[in-house]
Amino acid sequence: MQDFDPRRPSFRIAPRVVAGAAALFGLFIVWKATDTGSKPADPPQLSSAAVLALQHAAFTQAEAQPGFSRPENVAVKVLPGETLESAVERAGVAPDEAEQAVGLLSQAMDTVNIRAGMAFEAAIAKPRAERGHARLIGLSMRAGPAKSITLSRTFDGALRLRELQEQILDDTVAANGKIEGSLYESAARMGATPTITAQVVKLFSHKLDFQRDIQPGDDFKLVFNRKVTESGKTIETGDLEYAELHGVRFYRFERAGGSADYFDEHGKNIKGFLLRTPVDGARITSVFGKRRHPVLGYTRAHQGIDFGAGTGAPILAAGDGVVLEARRWSGYGNWLRIRHTGSFDTGYAHVSRYAPGIRPGVRVKQGQVVAYVGSTGLATGPHLHYEIWQNGQRVNPLGAKIPQGTVLAGAELARFRAEKARIDRLLGENQAMAAADTVVRR
Ligand SMILES: [Zn+2]
Repeated sequence: MQDFDPRRPSFRIAPRVVAGAAALFGLFIVWKATDTGSKPADPPQLSSAAVLALQHAAFTQAEAQPGFSRPENVAVKVLPGETLESAVERAGVAPDEAEQAVGLLSQAMDTVNIRAGMAFEAAIAKPRAERGHARLIGLSMRAGPAKSITLSRTFDGALRLRELQEQILDDTVAANGKIEGSLYESAARMGATPTITAQVVKLFSHKLDFQRDIQPGDDFKLVFNRKVTESGKTIETGDLEYAELHGVRFYRFERAGGSADYFDEHGKNIKGFLLRTPVDGARITSVFGKRRHPVLGYTRAHQGIDFGAGTGAPILAAGDGVVLEARRWSGYGNWLRIRHTGSFDTGYAHVSRYAPGIRPGVRVKQGQVVAYVGSTGLATGPHLHYEIWQNGQRVNPLGAKIPQGTVLAGAELARFRAEKARIDRLLGENQAMAAADTVVRR
């Protein structure tokens, strides 16, 4: 057999080599040949088994080419100030072959104004001899989110340009995952973009402490919309429709006015992160504002609201948070302060005693009993003096600026339930598929 000369294309490169080189670049569904040369008839549709067989044959064939080793992929990034041509040369191919390749690429893209860092993959066959240039078998690069450009050798040895334009599909992803690494990494494996994950983190920050509560191996579920290429690359994510972590569930729902918000499975808005009444069944006996102090006898601002209740009545944490202070504080007597997210604190004064385990640094859940009503400090009788602090300033607990929860009702609740059923169905299908998958693998 005579030696293979890369500059004098030989018929000995079988079509199977071309199939193999194309397979190196992954599977593209839609492609458009842009060369104007003699065009062979469209290749027949192949089954995946046939493609694998061809691919195997191609490598065997390429291996058998005298003078050249099996094609290999080389990842190349354009360096600052470098031309595309010299970047192709860096893959190991001869200058004239690089020039020819870039000439072809220029039919499909701007090959002059290229950015440093632009990446491509070159498939090259190295000469078996120590000397000489590698032969360029193919080249592939992404020219846009859904557009790839490839060069590959045809059976006659010529380089052919192909533009591969993938279709972009609207897709809804319903995914079950386990936390491995950070939530960002875990969600990215499901095809979620950082934008989607940021939304998830924001949602759960009302309910969970990501540092403490999230452990590797924890299950989580997401449903989100995205635009995806046929090869499965997420181009753009749309709305987060559902998120579940540690049994806490959020469903996205569009209100009658068009604004969207997240609700739990009962149709309750997550924004109700502070209870309106931290003592069950208690009535407000004194509101926020200027009044004559009942003990001191002079007028001063009342910096909270009072709830009338008997000594020992349980006081509930108004929201999830961490105990900031649990100590005696002059006229407030036994005082409890809880720090919540969104720069909100709640304060509880005159308490008779704290619930077991309540001390600074302890995490509490909304509705958890944290203390008991009393009359310690300056108080005429047992009551809860309740305060809300925002950014270190006391604010009126009945004021509009405190986020309050919304519970859906009537027609809106009916619409919400239909929407929830749709999401639950998607998750159910996803789980059924995962189960089937497990059966197949066993
Ligand atoms: Zn008070």
